[in-house]
Amino acid sequence: MLTLRSYVAGEWFEGQGKSVTLVNPATEEAIATASTEGLDFEKCYAYARDVGGPALRAMTFRERGELLRAMSKAIHGKRDELFQSAMANGGNTRSDAKFDIDGAWGTLAAYADLGAELGDTKVLADGDAIQLGRSPRLFGAHVYLPREGVAVHVNAFNFPAWGLAEKAAAALLAGMPVISKPATSTALLAYRIMEVLVDGKLLPAGALQFIAGSTGKLLELLGGQDVLAFTGSSFTGTTLRRGVGITERGTHINVEADSLNAAVLGPDVEEGSDLLNLFAADVVRDMTQKTGQKCTAIRRVYVPRDRMDAVIEVLRERLAQVKVGDPTLDEVTMGPVSTAQQLADVRSGVEKLGRVAKLVVGSPTEVNAIGRTGDKGFFVAPMLLRADDPQAGDEVHSHEVFGPVATVMPYDGSAKDAARLVAMGGGGLVSSVYSDDKAFLEGCVLGIAPHHGRVTIGSTKVAGQAIPPGLVLPQLLHGGPGRAGGGEELGGRRGLAFYMQRTALQGDRSILEGLIGKKA
Ligand code: NAP
Repeated sequence: MLTLRSYVAGEWFEGQGKSVTLVNPATEEAIATASTEGLDFEKCYAYARDVGGPALRAMTFRERGELLRAMSKAIHGKRDELFQSAMANGGNTRSDAKFDIDGAWGTLAAYADLGAELGDTKVLADGDAIQLGRSPRLFGAHVYLPREGVAVHVNAFNFPAWGLAEKAAAALLAGMPVISKPATSTALLAYRIMEVLVDGKLLPAGALQFIAGSTGKLLELLGGQDVLAFTGSSFTGTTLRRGVGITERGTHINVEADSLNAAVLGPDVEEGSDLLNLFAADVVRDMTQKTGQKCTAIRRVYVPRDRMDAVIEVLRERLAQVKVGDPTLDEVTMGPVSTAQQLADVRSGVEKLGRVAKLVVGSPTEVNAIGRTGDKGFFVAPMLLRADDPQAGDEVHSHEVFGPVATVMPYDGSAKDAARLVAMGGGGLVSSVYSDDKAFLEGCVLGIAPHHGRVTIGSTKVAGQAIPPGLVLPQLLHGGPGRAGGGEELGGRRGLAFYMQRTALQGDRSILEGLIGKKA
């Protein structure tokens, strides 16, 4: 069986002792093991800080962007092989695997473009310089410079490729060395990517290290110039926030956590319209893509009360087209969830929602899985629930079932009521509103915006070219307030800020101009 290794201080390291076994979720066959027992975390941390950091900081944004370009090309070049790893260890269909892997090289390419745009400088100016006194000599300005520590990235199990790449893209372009840790249960794909990057000798020594397994004592080593970017459950996020680096030494932390993303159907959207089709396609895609294991997936669907039955029928018809089964088969459109624990969590989560909502499509225990071997595999059917009278405090607003599950709920047709209900999610990554009615959009979109990192607006004029809410774009912010963790990632240039210190400089205008490299 394959043993996943960590890549530390310029060498591959194989852990000893107790290891975690990775399985194929479609067959439950063991495919690899991973352990970090015996790994020298102090050496790993010091190598990033003392070797990787200085090498990256010696480069300009343009040069660091070129590194990202090379990483992007290398991943793109091994796309087909990487798809196999995503299918084998993630339960991904080919289309799911593309979503993750194409997202990885695409995000690196977008940040490579940003590097070219920022050009031959190492200092990033933040806004314009400000005249401070009466004389036009005394000026103030804000600049960003890379933090002189280490960026530790802890990722969730659902996007092993994109998770590694999107965080690394922003950190490396900003000039910080990275230690990246994928979730162990699905780490095979991230490991294969790391092999591609190491074999290609694409990065300076110490710029990117990789941990296959537990972080051991690594997080205890973090200090005031270091950052920790975490993606995963709220529970783990809360644990990591209590780390000694964060509570006592000022380590910067970014948390990307759970989210009960909503889709709101406007009262003006007519049956059979392009906009209704867009809404239904988005809901069903988000429920079933990656078997619903997407932080941005739609979990709550709000429709005007008198449209509940009709909308549920539209969604039922579309969900009936979903073919669950062995993700390597062409006809299959939805694979299994990633682990036995995930399957147990989905089932118990649906039971929990069942206290206030009625299951109208699918079953937590019955599934017809194409190509299944006996009763093997963590397969589950897509499930739609309806809650006709959801109250504040009900699980439908607070419990994220991380699988192919959504709940349809009514609102009274007003933007105010829709916004009130969506806000009950306690802070989300992304929600979507479908309408052509400008007054409704203004009330609903601006009403829910303070509770979200991103809001997508579906309207008839863009229905043919709309980008689904579940797709995270490198140009736009990813993250959300409250339950979603309060984090911010990506968003083009904004994504660099977490990895850089913003400093105000004040003094003689010409000296400032010399330091910043541009006219004030
Ligand atoms: P998880 O159980 O919280 O694990 C996430 C990561 O944290 C894994 O790499 C895990 O490593 C690591 N971890 C767990 N305990 C740790 C500790 N004490 N110290 C250091 N690292 C620790 O979450 P998950 O099950 O992988 O992911 C599912 C959740 O992530 C969902 O709730 C989903 O909403 C959320 N998510 C959010 C986003 C977003 O961008 N907001 C994106 C994707 C997923 P091991 O695997 O080795 O235990």
